[in-house]
Amino acid sequence: MSNGLARKRIALFGSTGSIGRQALEVIDANSGAFSVEVLTAHSNDELLVKQALHFKPEIVVIGDDKKYPQVKAALSGHPIKVFAGEKALEEVAAMDVYDMMIAAIVGFAGLRPTLRAIENGKAIALANKETLVVAGDIVMQKALECKAPIIPVDSEHSAIFQCLIGETRNRIEKIILTASGGPFLGKKPNFLVNVKRDHALQHPNWSMGAKITIDSATLMNKGLEMIEAKWLFNLQPDQVHVVIHPQSIIHSMIQFEDGSIKAQMGLPDMKLPIQYALSFPRRLPSNFPRYDFRKPNTLSFEEPDTRTFRNLVLATDALNKGGNLPCVLNAANEIAVFAFLRNRIGFLDMTDLVERTMQEMPFIEHPTLEEYFDSDGEARNFAASLIKL
Ligand code: NAD
Ligand code: MG
Repeated sequence: MSNGLARKRIALFGSTGSIGRQALEVIDANSGAFSVEVLTAHSNDELLVKQALHFKPEIVVIGDDKKYPQVKAALSGHPIKVFAGEKALEEVAAMDVYDMMIAAIVGFAGLRPTLRAIENGKAIALANKETLVVAGDIVMQKALECKAPIIPVDSEHSAIFQCLIGETRNRIEKIILTASGGPFLGKKPNFLVNVKRDHALQHPNWSMGAKITIDSATLMNKGLEMIEAKWLFNLQPDQVHVVIHPQSIIHSMIQFEDGSIKAQMGLPDMKLPIQYALSFPRRLPSNFPRYDFRKPNTLSFEEPDTRTFRNLVLATDALNKGGNLPCVLNAANEIAVFAFLRNRIGFLDMTDLVERTMQEMPFIEHPTLEEYFDSDGEARNFAASLIKL
């Protein structure tokens, strides 16, 4: 953007991940509009250093403090401050060196830094859906109090967000989140029982980090997204619907009270919702590939098979009951995916583990933030003990 406006200063938390790397591509292609002031990574010090040398942020944080000496040495001679450790993520989120945080850390680990950024009144481009799944009520309330806009990056939620433009006075009848169905669409339990990690890591339409790829194969990702949508758009559970749409061209839809349906469409490419979250309310030109309606194509839709993909049932239960149940579901799921990725449990065992943990953990209807952290820890310990992790 060479319109004389100041560049938006970006803090990219989780810069070495799939979303993080794509966000940097978007920023690189729009360097007149955005500058990178903070980069953080958990353990990939080599990529973090490479990114820092290219984007010249003011601060980098390496989560794993054992990697601090390497990062510090590699960036010596450059005016870049280097911090390490979990606490540093929060401290940097609370600083005033940036305008917008891209929350691209995976899992529960993203919650604390994102909350800090919200308390700091910063805009959030939110990829880390677990933040809203775990503590959506507290996060949204804080965002309201601190006037911190939360712009979704998740493609489904970006679609709903885009469809809502100009509709502030109109009631949503329901939203319809689309799901590709993942690599095992149409498969039954007798097939799934033998599925191994490498097969589950192959998603037909999207290239993503390992955790969300497994969540997409089990449909837990869509379950988490139902809960994310409830908080982002202030919906009742029965307003949140899911339909399988294997082509991933319609990214989600809203149905209004007059029956009219708005959809947002495009080829599946996360760079589009990332760029939109960064540039909102503007749209910036891009050279992303375009969808071509003249080519032979079919857009198809079907009901999800919830008898096979029971994670959707568990997530709907958590959505309906609320309280700390979504937090427990998320914690058990993080343990389940961790164990599956290490070939410690089978594909279907993941759902069983989440279900057992949800049954056993005490229910808290209105948890405090501390109680959410406690619920997360207890649910992780319980789930890990069940599989002797
Ligand atoms: P990823 O695994 O590729 O990257 C995760 C990033 O988080 C890395 O930079 C890593 O260093 C950092 N990280 C991991 N554990 C950490 C910890 N304990 N403390 C600090 N940093 C840590 O994940 P991803 O696919 O980029 O997904 C990131 C988030 O975005 C997830 O919440 C995911 O659900 C969401 N999301 C991803 C996509 C996608 O296409 N990849 C789409 C929609 C939403
Ligand atoms: Mg999504």
